[in-house]
Amino acid sequence: MNLRNGWYFLGGAGACLTLVALLGAAASDNQPSPTRALPDRDAYYPGTENLAEDEMRVTACGTGMPNTRPKQAGACFLVELGNGDKFIFDIGTGSAERLSGLAIHYDYLDKVFIGHLHADHFGDLAALWVGGALNNRQRPLRVWGPNSTKPEYGTAYAVDHMEKMLTWDAASRLGNVNTRGLQIEVNEFDYKGVNQVIYEENGVTIRSFPAVHALDGPVSFTLEWNGLKFAFSSDTYPNKWWMKYAKGADIAIHVCFQPPIIMVKKQKFPVRDALNVGTQVHTSPSMFGKVMSMTEPRLAVGYHFFNDFDTTPFVERQVRTTYGGRLALAVDYMVFNVTKDDIRVRMAVINEDAWPLPSVTEKLPADPSQRVGFTNFLIEGRVVFEDVIKKVYDDTNEELGTDVEAPK
Ligand SMILES: [Zn+2]
Ligand SMILES: [Zn+2]
Repeated sequence: MNLRNGWYFLGGAGACLTLVALLGAAASDNQPSPTRALPDRDAYYPGTENLAEDEMRVTACGTGMPNTRPKQAGACFLVELGNGDKFIFDIGTGSAERLSGLAIHYDYLDKVFIGHLHADHFGDLAALWVGGALNNRQRPLRVWGPNSTKPEYGTAYAVDHMEKMLTWDAASRLGNVNTRGLQIEVNEFDYKGVNQVIYEENGVTIRSFPAVHALDGPVSFTLEWNGLKFAFSSDTYPNKWWMKYAKGADIAIHVCFQPPIIMVKKQKFPVRDALNVGTQVHTSPSMFGKVMSMTEPRLAVGYHFFNDFDTTPFVERQVRTTYGGRLALAVDYMVFNVTKDDIRVRMAVINEDAWPLPSVTEKLPADPSQRVGFTNFLIEGRVVFEDVIKKVYDDTNEELGTDVEAPK
C-alpha cells in the first residue's frame, strides 16, 4: 500500500479515521520499522566523513567575543582540504577546546595564521602549543602573523613572550615527558603587504592584506586551492583591500560585530563606546551586509556576536537591509563543505566525552637526564608511600609485560 497516494484522497472529517486505517494496514502488512542508519543525518559527526579530493571543509571553532562564554569561543576557523592539509585561522580564547572536539590528530594541527593579536583571536595559542606537544606533535608549531609599527606590537614579540610566560611550564616538563614538539616557528610578515603571498606549499596559496582595526598591524587572509577561495577578515573596518582581494570568494567569513544597541542593553556598555567599538573599530551587521554586497561571495559568513535566539533575528534584519545574497551567521561548530558545485552548511555533533586522538606516530619517551629536579627543601618534604607506589609499578608491569623499576 502506498501511504502517500492514500493522502491524496484524505480530507474533511473522515481524514483522521482514514489515516488510522492506513497506518494500521501498514503495520499489519508486517512492514518492519527501519533499523538501519539513515543515509543522511544532516549533521557532521567528526571523524566519520571522507573529504572528497576536491572538497574544502571549514569548521567554526570560535565565533564569539573577547568576553568568554560556554557557547562561543574566541575567533577560530579550521580549514581542511581534500589534499589532507589543515590550516587554523585565528586561535581565540577557548578555541583549542573546540579543535579538540573534531577528532583530528594534533600532528596535523600545526599551522596557525593569526590575523591580529587580540586575545579573542590568539589567546589559545599556548593551549595548542603545549597540548599538541604533549600529544606527541613532533614538529614545531608553525605560526604566521603580522608585524606592526613597533617590534613589540608584532607577532614575533607576542610569541616570544608567550614562550617566556611558559618558562616554568617548559622546564617542568623536561625529563618527565618528551618535549620535542615544544618549538615554535614564527613567520612574521609585513602587515602593509597587499595581497602578498605568505604561504605557498602543496598547491595551497595563502595571501594577506591589511585590515583596519584598532591599531596598525591587523590583516585579513585568503586561501586559494584547487579553484576554491576562502576569505577571512579576522577583525576589520570595511576597507578597499578586502573589497578587491576577497571579491568573489567561495566562502567569505567576515566580522559582523555585536550590534551597539545589544552591547548597551545586555553588556551595559556606555552608548558612545558601543557605537565606536561597533561601527568604527569593527564592522556592524548592516555594514557587514554592505561589504558582502560588494564582495559577492557564494556564501557570506558573519561572526563575532553572541549568537542567540534573541540576538540573531535582530542581527539578520540589520544585515538584510544591505545584503540579499546567501548568508550564514556562524556559531561554534557550524561546518561548511565547499565544492565547486555546492556549499553545504550543517552543525557538527560533538562527543563531549571525546579524548584527544593519540598521535599517528609512536609516543617518544622522556629523557630523564634532562630533568631539572627539586631542591632538597622539597625532596625532604615528601611523604613517600614506598609500598603503595611499588604496587602501582608492579601491577602496571604485570598488566603490560614490562619491567620498569620503581625509583628508590
Ligand atoms: Zn580584534
Ligand atoms: Zn575580535
